[in-house]
Amino acid sequence: MSSYLKNVWAGFYTAVKGMMITSRHMFKKSVTIQYPDEKFDLPANARNKLVLDMSRCNACTACAIACPVNCITVEGVRVSPEDPHQEVHADGKPRKVWVTRYEMDLAKCCFCGLCQAACPSDAIKHTQDFEYSAYNKESLYFKYQILTPEQSAEKVRLLAEFKEKEAAAKAAAAEKAATEGKPVAPKKAAPKADEASEQ
Ligand code: SF4
Ligand code: SF4
Repeated sequence: MSSYLKNVWAGFYTAVKGMMITSRHMFKKSVTIQYPDEKFDLPANARNKLVLDMSRCNACTACAIACPVNCITVEGVRVSPEDPHQEVHADGKPRKVWVTRYEMDLAKCCFCGLCQAACPSDAIKHTQDFEYSAYNKESLYFKYQILTPEQSAEKVRLLAEFKEKEAAAKAAAAEKAATEGKPVAPKKAAPKADEASEQ
């Protein structure tokens, strides 16, 4: 009988104690939020989804070189001086390189921020967006494009044409100088590879 009464008392006591704790917390300010309807403000330097501003990118490949997991691929082609479509870069200077390919595999990204730190023109940045989960990793492969494949091919052709003309003009000048008996100017070092780099 006494153990029965003890159990009744224990049941009553624990129920009252539980209700007291519950009622005490009913009037306290909540520390949780109703995600996803409500969201915390993230720190300004939070490293989440990356975005690229193509108008600022100059295909320098610094981001791709800095990336420890090789998730960035960049290709570009030098702008031919004879290209009828000249563009002003976001820094206000004429664009020197067309970005023909910029791809980012965010499924591989470890959000280290090295690409952002390496970028000389603030073209690649981490955003506050962390809600971009996907059902397959292909959806996390981002391709940025300002030129169509046809336009890219045209830019490559224009540059090759310009280089050909330049080489022919140089050869003609050298030939003319040779026939006139003038000393031929020493050859300059070959320009840097212009069909940009790939990482
Ligand atoms: S944040 Fe790091 S891992 Fe991700 S793309 Fe940039 S350099 Fe690569
Ligand atoms: S470092 Fe910046 S400018 Fe250079 S390729 Fe990457 S995003 Fe473009």
